[in-house]
Amino acid sequence: SILAGLIFGLFSGVLGSYFLFARMRSGKEILTGIKRGQFHVVYQPVVDAQKLEMQGVEALLRWEHPTAGAIPPDAFIAFAEAQQLIVPLTRHLFALVARDARQLQNILPPGAKLGINLAPGHLHAPMFKEDIMAFAASLPPQHFKLVFEITERDMLKEKEAMGLFCWLHKRGFEIAIDDFGTGHSALIYLQRFTLDYLKIDRGFVNSIGMETVTTPVLDAVLTLAKRLDMTTVAEGVETREQAKWLIERGVNYLQGYYFSRPLTLTQLMNWNQPQGSH
Ligand code: C2E
Ligand code: CA
Ligand code: CA
Ligand code: CA
Repeated sequence: SILAGLIFGLFSGVLGSYFLFARMRSGKEILTGIKRGQFHVVYQPVVDAQKLEMQGVEALLRWEHPTAGAIPPDAFIAFAEAQQLIVPLTRHLFALVARDARQLQNILPPGAKLGINLAPGHLHAPMFKEDIMAFAASLPPQHFKLVFEITERDMLKEKEAMGLFCWLHKRGFEIAIDDFGTGHSALIYLQRFTLDYLKIDRGFVNSIGMETVTTPVLDAVLTLAKRLDMTTVAEGVETREQAKWLIERGVNYLQGYYFSRPLTLTQLMNWNQPQGSH
Protein backbone atom coordinates (compact mmCIF):
# COMPACT_ATOMS: atom_id res chain seq x y z
CA SER A 1 0.00 0.00 0.00
CA ILE A 2 3.05 2.20 0.33
CA LEU A 3 3.57 1.62 -3.34
CA ALA A 4 -0.08 2.42 -4.10
CA GLY A 5 0.25 5.62 -2.08
CA LEU A 6 3.41 6.48 -3.90
CA ILE A 7 1.82 5.90 -7.28
CA PHE A 8 -1.25 7.87 -6.29
CA GLY A 9 0.89 10.70 -4.95
CA LEU A 10 2.93 10.76 -8.11
CA PHE A 11 -0.19 10.63 -10.24
CA SER A 12 -1.98 13.45 -8.43
CA GLY A 13 1.23 15.44 -8.44
CA VAL A 14 1.56 15.08 -12.17
CA LEU A 15 -2.13 15.77 -12.67
CA GLY A 16 -1.93 18.78 -10.35
CA SER A 17 0.99 20.25 -12.19
CA TYR A 18 -0.70 19.54 -15.50
CA PHE A 19 -3.74 21.58 -14.45
CA LEU A 20 -1.55 24.27 -13.00
CA PHE A 21 0.40 24.44 -16.24
CA ALA A 22 -2.85 24.74 -18.22
CA ARG A 23 -4.03 27.53 -15.92
CA MET A 24 -0.70 29.28 -16.26
CA ARG A 25 -0.91 29.04 -20.00
CA SER A 26 -4.36 30.57 -19.94
CA GLY A 27 -2.97 33.41 -17.87
CA LYS A 28 -5.69 32.97 -15.29
CA GLU A 29 -3.25 31.92 -12.62
CA ILE A 30 -1.27 35.15 -12.97
CA LEU A 31 -4.39 37.31 -12.53
CA THR A 32 -5.41 35.23 -9.51
CA GLY A 33 -1.88 35.63 -8.15
CA ILE A 34 -2.11 39.41 -8.50
CA LYS A 35 -5.52 39.49 -6.81
CA ARG A 36 -4.42 37.27 -3.93
CA GLY A 37 -1.16 39.10 -3.28
CA GLN A 38 1.14 36.22 -4.26
CA PHE A 39 3.69 38.52 -5.86
CA HIS A 40 6.28 40.54 -4.02
CA VAL A 41 9.37 42.48 -4.92
CA VAL A 42 12.97 41.90 -3.91
CA TYR A 43 15.73 44.44 -4.36
CA GLN A 44 19.27 43.63 -5.45
CA PRO A 45 21.97 46.15 -4.56
CA VAL A 46 24.08 47.65 -7.32
CA VAL A 47 27.49 48.64 -6.02
CA ASP A 48 29.79 51.47 -7.09
CA ALA A 49 32.99 49.73 -8.25
CA GLN A 50 35.30 52.42 -6.86
CA LYS A 51 33.69 53.30 -3.56
CA LEU A 52 32.18 49.86 -3.02
CA GLU A 53 28.99 51.53 -1.82
CA MET A 54 25.45 50.81 -2.82
CA GLN A 55 24.47 53.09 -5.70
CA GLY A 56 20.96 51.76 -5.94
CA VAL A 57 18.90 48.64 -6.34
CA GLU A 58 17.15 46.69 -9.06
CA ALA A 59 13.54 45.69 -8.35
CA LEU A 60 12.82 42.05 -9.20
CA LEU A 61 9.42 40.36 -9.07
CA ARG A 62 8.85 37.13 -7.16
CA TRP A 63 5.86 34.83 -7.35
CA GLU A 64 5.15 32.71 -4.30
CA HIS A 65 2.56 30.29 -5.65
CA PRO A 66 0.47 28.45 -2.99
CA THR A 67 0.93 25.00 -4.56
CA ALA A 68 3.77 25.33 -7.06
CA GLY A 69 6.00 27.25 -4.67
CA ALA A 70 8.43 29.89 -5.91
CA ILE A 71 8.01 30.36 -9.65
CA PRO A 72 11.05 32.01 -11.26
CA PRO A 73 10.43 35.28 -13.11
CA ASP A 74 11.96 33.93 -16.31
CA ALA A 75 8.99 31.53 -16.44
CA PHE A 76 6.11 33.80 -15.45
CA ILE A 77 7.30 36.87 -17.35
CA ALA A 78 7.29 34.76 -20.52
CA PHE A 79 3.78 33.49 -19.72
CA ALA A 80 2.61 37.01 -18.99
CA GLU A 81 4.02 38.26 -22.28
CA ALA A 82 2.43 35.45 -24.25
CA GLN A 83 -0.95 36.07 -22.57
CA GLN A 84 -0.84 39.85 -23.02
CA LEU A 85 -0.69 40.18 -19.26
CA ILE A 86 2.61 41.98 -19.07
CA VAL A 87 0.89 45.36 -18.70
CA PRO A 88 -1.25 44.38 -15.68
CA LEU A 89 1.71 42.53 -14.19
CA THR A 90 4.04 45.52 -14.60
CA ARG A 91 1.39 47.84 -13.17
CA HIS A 92 1.19 45.48 -10.24
CA LEU A 93 4.98 45.72 -9.83
CA PHE A 94 4.65 49.53 -9.87
CA ALA A 95 2.01 49.33 -7.14
CA LEU A 96 4.17 47.00 -5.02
CA VAL A 97 7.24 49.22 -5.39
CA ALA A 98 5.12 52.28 -4.53
CA ARG A 99 3.90 50.46 -1.42
CA ASP A 100 7.53 49.73 -0.46
CA ALA A 101 8.68 53.26 -1.31
CA ARG A 102 8.34 54.79 2.13
CA GLN A 103 10.57 52.11 3.66
CA LEU A 104 12.94 52.20 0.69
CA GLN A 105 13.29 55.93 1.20
CA ASN A 106 14.61 55.29 4.70
CA ILE A 107 17.07 52.66 3.50
CA LEU A 108 18.38 54.33 0.35
CA PRO A 109 19.96 57.81 0.26
CA PRO A 110 18.50 60.60 -1.88
CA GLY A 111 19.48 60.17 -5.51
CA ALA A 112 19.66 56.38 -5.24
CA LYS A 113 18.93 54.54 -8.46
CA LEU A 114 15.89 52.34 -8.66
CA GLY A 115 16.09 49.91 -11.56
CA ILE A 116 12.86 48.66 -13.12
CA ASN A 117 12.69 46.04 -15.88
CA LEU A 118 10.39 46.83 -18.76
CA ALA A 119 9.10 44.22 -21.17
CA PRO A 120 8.72 45.10 -24.85
CA GLY A 121 4.98 44.37 -24.74
CA HIS A 122 4.59 47.31 -22.41
CA LEU A 123 6.57 49.79 -24.48
CA HIS A 124 3.99 49.77 -27.29
CA ALA A 125 0.99 49.68 -24.96
CA PRO A 126 -1.26 52.72 -25.49
CA MET A 127 -1.11 53.68 -21.82
CA PHE A 128 2.66 53.28 -21.46
CA LYS A 129 3.49 56.94 -20.88
CA GLU A 130 0.57 57.41 -18.51
CA ASP A 131 1.66 54.31 -16.56
CA ILE A 132 5.21 55.62 -16.21
CA MET A 133 4.07 59.07 -15.09
CA ALA A 134 1.60 57.61 -12.60
CA PHE A 135 4.29 55.33 -11.22
CA ALA A 136 6.77 58.19 -10.84
CA ALA A 137 4.09 60.28 -9.13
CA SER A 138 3.42 57.45 -6.66
CA LEU A 139 7.01 57.62 -5.33
CA PRO A 140 8.39 60.16 -2.85
CA PRO A 141 9.23 63.21 -4.96
CA GLN A 142 12.88 63.61 -5.99
CA HIS A 143 14.17 60.78 -3.84
CA PHE A 144 14.85 58.04 -6.38
CA LYS A 145 16.29 58.18 -9.84
CA LEU A 146 14.31 55.71 -11.92
CA VAL A 147 16.34 53.61 -14.32
CA PHE A 148 14.31 51.65 -16.84
CA GLU A 149 16.02 48.48 -18.02
CA ILE A 150 15.28 47.20 -21.50
CA THR A 151 17.07 44.20 -22.92
CA GLU A 152 19.37 44.56 -25.87
CA ARG A 153 17.21 42.17 -27.91
CA ASP A 154 14.02 44.13 -27.25
CA MET A 155 15.59 47.50 -27.80
CA LEU A 156 16.51 46.72 -31.35
CA LYS A 157 13.04 45.47 -32.15
CA GLU A 158 11.62 48.84 -31.26
CA LYS A 159 11.35 51.06 -34.29
CA GLU A 160 10.09 53.87 -32.12
CA ALA A 161 12.73 53.25 -29.47
CA MET A 162 14.57 56.49 -30.15
CA GLY A 163 11.48 58.64 -29.62
CA LEU A 164 10.58 56.73 -26.51
CA PHE A 165 14.05 57.14 -25.02
CA CYS A 166 13.97 60.89 -25.70
CA TRP A 167 10.61 61.08 -23.98
CA LEU A 168 11.93 59.20 -20.92
CA HIS A 169 15.07 61.36 -20.75
CA LYS A 170 13.13 64.60 -20.96
CA ARG A 171 11.24 63.54 -17.88
CA GLY A 172 14.39 62.80 -15.95
CA PHE A 173 14.39 59.01 -16.19
CA GLU A 174 17.41 56.97 -17.13
CA ILE A 175 17.72 53.98 -19.43
CA ALA A 176 19.84 50.88 -19.12
CA ILE A 177 20.43 48.42 -21.87
CA ASP A 178 19.99 45.09 -20.12
CA ASP A 179 21.62 41.72 -20.79
CA PHE A 180 24.17 43.27 -23.08
CA GLY A 181 25.95 40.63 -25.15
CA THR A 182 22.94 38.34 -25.59
CA GLY A 183 21.61 40.29 -28.57
CA HIS A 184 23.62 40.73 -31.72
CA SER A 185 24.11 44.43 -32.06
CA ALA A 186 27.17 46.51 -32.49
CA LEU A 187 27.97 48.97 -29.75
CA ILE A 188 28.58 51.58 -32.41
CA TYR A 189 24.98 51.20 -33.48
CA LEU A 190 23.73 51.42 -29.92
CA GLN A 191 25.61 54.63 -29.43
CA ARG A 192 22.97 56.34 -31.58
CA PHE A 193 20.52 55.90 -28.75
CA THR A 194 21.08 57.99 -25.72
CA LEU A 195 21.55 55.24 -23.19
CA ASP A 196 22.75 55.81 -19.67
CA TYR A 197 23.95 52.35 -18.68
CA LEU A 198 25.20 49.27 -20.42
CA LYS A 199 24.53 46.17 -18.32
CA ILE A 200 26.93 43.38 -19.25
CA ASP A 201 25.10 40.06 -19.16
CA ARG A 202 26.15 37.58 -16.53
CA GLY A 203 27.04 35.07 -19.24
CA PHE A 204 30.06 37.24 -20.01
CA VAL A 205 30.90 37.80 -16.38
CA ASN A 206 30.80 34.04 -15.74
CA SER A 207 33.56 33.48 -18.24
CA ILE A 208 36.07 35.62 -16.35
CA GLY A 209 38.95 33.49 -15.15
CA MET A 210 37.87 30.49 -17.18
CA GLU A 211 40.01 31.31 -20.21
CA THR A 212 37.15 30.85 -22.64
CA VAL A 213 36.78 32.72 -25.89
CA THR A 214 34.28 35.12 -24.30
CA THR A 215 36.78 36.85 -22.03
CA PRO A 216 38.67 38.62 -24.85
CA VAL A 217 35.28 39.62 -26.29
CA LEU A 218 34.28 41.11 -22.95
CA ASP A 219 37.61 42.88 -22.78
CA ALA A 220 37.01 44.41 -26.21
CA VAL A 221 33.43 45.39 -25.35
CA LEU A 222 34.58 47.17 -22.20
CA THR A 223 37.34 49.01 -24.05
CA LEU A 224 34.88 50.18 -26.68
CA ALA A 225 32.23 51.11 -24.11
CA LYS A 226 34.81 53.27 -22.36
CA ARG A 227 35.82 54.96 -25.60
CA LEU A 228 32.17 55.66 -26.29
CA ASP A 229 31.83 57.12 -22.83
CA MET A 230 29.19 54.66 -21.71
CA THR A 231 28.61 53.84 -18.07
CA THR A 232 28.96 50.11 -17.51
CA VAL A 233 27.33 47.78 -15.01
CA ALA A 234 28.39 44.14 -14.71
CA GLU A 235 25.68 41.74 -13.58
CA GLY A 236 26.06 38.28 -12.12
CA VAL A 237 29.33 39.00 -10.30
CA GLU A 238 29.76 35.92 -8.12
CA THR A 239 33.40 35.84 -7.13
CA ARG A 240 36.04 38.12 -5.77
CA GLU A 241 38.18 37.31 -8.78
CA GLN A 242 35.47 38.50 -11.18
CA ALA A 243 34.95 41.70 -9.17
CA LYS A 244 38.68 42.41 -9.19
CA TRP A 245 38.98 41.79 -12.92
CA LEU A 246 36.04 44.10 -13.67
CA ILE A 247 37.23 46.87 -11.35
CA GLU A 248 40.69 46.75 -12.96
CA ARG A 249 39.09 47.27 -16.35
CA GLY A 250 37.16 50.30 -15.19
CA VAL A 251 33.63 48.89 -15.00
CA ASN A 252 31.58 51.48 -13.13
CA TYR A 253 29.05 49.40 -11.21
CA LEU A 254 28.82 45.81 -10.05
CA GLN A 255 25.83 43.64 -9.21
CA GLY A 256 25.75 40.00 -8.23
CA TYR A 257 25.72 37.38 -5.51
CA TYR A 258 29.28 38.26 -4.51
CA PHE A 259 27.88 41.53 -3.15
CA SER A 260 24.33 40.54 -2.45
CA ARG A 261 21.44 38.38 -3.57
CA PRO A 262 18.15 40.14 -4.22
CA LEU A 263 16.81 41.10 -0.78
CA THR A 264 13.46 41.65 0.86
CA LEU A 265 12.91 45.09 2.40
CA THR A 266 13.82 43.77 5.84
CA GLN A 267 17.00 42.13 4.59
CA LEU A 268 17.91 45.26 2.66
CA MET A 269 17.53 47.32 5.81
CA ASN A 270 20.12 45.12 7.53
CA TRP A 271 22.46 44.85 4.60
CA ASN A 272 26.00 46.02 5.24
CA GLN A 273 28.03 47.72 2.57
CA PRO A 274 30.79 45.44 1.27
CA GLN A 275 33.50 47.62 2.81
CA GLY A 276 36.94 46.13 2.47
CA SER A 277 35.61 42.99 0.91
CA HIS A 278 38.45 43.07 -1.61
P1 C2E B 1 17.71 40.34 -15.17
O1 C2E B 1 17.04 41.63 -15.46
O2 C2E B 1 18.98 40.05 -15.89
O3 C2E B 1 17.84 40.29 -13.58
C1 C2E B 1 18.90 39.81 -12.89
C2 C2E B 1 18.70 38.37 -12.55
O4 C2E B 1 19.95 37.82 -12.26
C3 C2E B 1 17.87 38.17 -11.30
O5 C2E B 1 17.20 36.96 -11.43
C4 C2E B 1 18.90 38.02 -10.23
O6 C2E B 1 18.45 37.31 -9.11
C5 C2E B 1 19.95 37.24 -10.97
N1 C2E B 1 21.27 37.41 -10.40
C6 C2E B 1 21.78 38.50 -9.83
N2 C2E B 1 23.06 38.31 -9.43
C7 C2E B 1 23.36 37.05 -9.78
C8 C2E B 1 24.57 36.25 -9.63
O7 C2E B 1 25.59 36.66 -9.10
N3 C2E B 1 24.51 35.00 -10.13
C9 C2E B 1 23.41 34.48 -10.72
N4 C2E B 1 23.47 33.23 -11.17
N5 C2E B 1 22.26 35.20 -10.87
C10 C2E B 1 22.24 36.47 -10.40
P2 C2E B 1 15.66 36.84 -11.29
O8 C2E B 1 15.16 37.72 -10.20
O9 C2E B 1 15.40 35.37 -11.26
O10 C2E B 1 15.15 37.46 -12.64
C11 C2E B 1 15.33 36.83 -13.86
C12 C2E B 1 14.88 37.72 -14.98
O11 C2E B 1 13.46 37.89 -14.93
C13 C2E B 1 15.46 39.11 -14.89
O12 C2E B 1 16.73 39.11 -15.45
C14 C2E B 1 14.44 39.90 -15.68
O13 C2E B 1 14.71 39.83 -17.05
C15 C2E B 1 13.15 39.17 -15.40
N6 C2E B 1 12.39 39.94 -14.42
C16 C2E B 1 12.41 39.91 -13.07
N7 C2E B 1 11.54 40.81 -12.55
C17 C2E B 1 10.97 41.42 -13.60
C18 C2E B 1 9.99 42.45 -13.74
O14 C2E B 1 9.48 43.02 -12.77
N8 C2E B 1 9.63 42.83 -15.01
C19 C2E B 1 10.21 42.25 -16.12
N9 C2E B 1 9.83 42.68 -17.33
N10 C2E B 1 11.12 41.29 -16.03
C20 C2E B 1 11.51 40.88 -14.79
CA1 CA C 1 17.42 43.77 -15.40
CA1 CA D 1 20.13 41.81 -16.76
CA1 CA E 1 20.51 38.65 -17.44
